[in-house]
Amino acid sequence: MRLILLGPPGAGKGTQAQRLVERHGIPQLSTGDMLRKAVAEGSDVGKRAKAVMDAGQLVSDDIVNQIVSERIDDPDCAKGFILDGYPRTVPQAEALTRMLAEKGLRLDAVIELKVDEKALVNRMEKRVAETRAAGGEVRADDNPESFRKRLDEYRQKTAPLSDYYKGTGELVTIDGMADMDTVTAEIENVVGAAALK
Ligand code: ADP
Repeated sequence: MRLILLGPPGAGKGTQAQRLVERHGIPQLSTGDMLRKAVAEGSDVGKRAKAVMDAGQLVSDDIVNQIVSERIDDPDCAKGFILDGYPRTVPQAEALTRMLAEKGLRLDAVIELKVDEKALVNRMEKRVAETRAAGGEVRADDNPESFRKRLDEYRQKTAPLSDYYKGTGELVTIDGMADMDTVTAEIENVVGAAALK
């Protein structure tokens, strides 16, 4: 099963992706996590990406397209994967369409979590407070200024993907303001329907 989770920062993509991993035994491919790992390791990609990420801007399409294309070839992706945070621009979506076609793969669904923007800043602040309380390390881009920038980037560059995937007939929209278990149940409905196709 190959899925894309679409939605603004703080929409709950990470939580839902984690639940899909547990339930279906397929990996979550989070470009955010992959880039943070590259930064932590101090690789060339990490060095190029760090300042851009900290400011809440988007890393170049070429870099993320390549990271994802290589990752999809890993053996643990053979049964499918959940893309979280990718594609994030229309050129990335076009690259993914080409990439999957070349690999002879197709998507089962693109699931969009729709949320009220006003709730997002509160969710980010809550995530920061919970991470601190648990003694964890807060992300460098989880501060009000970078978060606002991430929301701007989302509105300008990622929101148009809804239309892109409406056009391909793959988009399913779910109310991301519902409680987490309801969102999970809705996603399972979509996944179940996709499996029957
Ligand atoms: P969020 O919680 O905001 O959804 P992510 O963990 O998905 O954040 O991504 C964090 C940062 O990593 C982004 O703000 C961006 O700088 C970079 N990034 C992640 N995925 C992509 C992508 N597909 N294209 C460009 N930049 C990306």
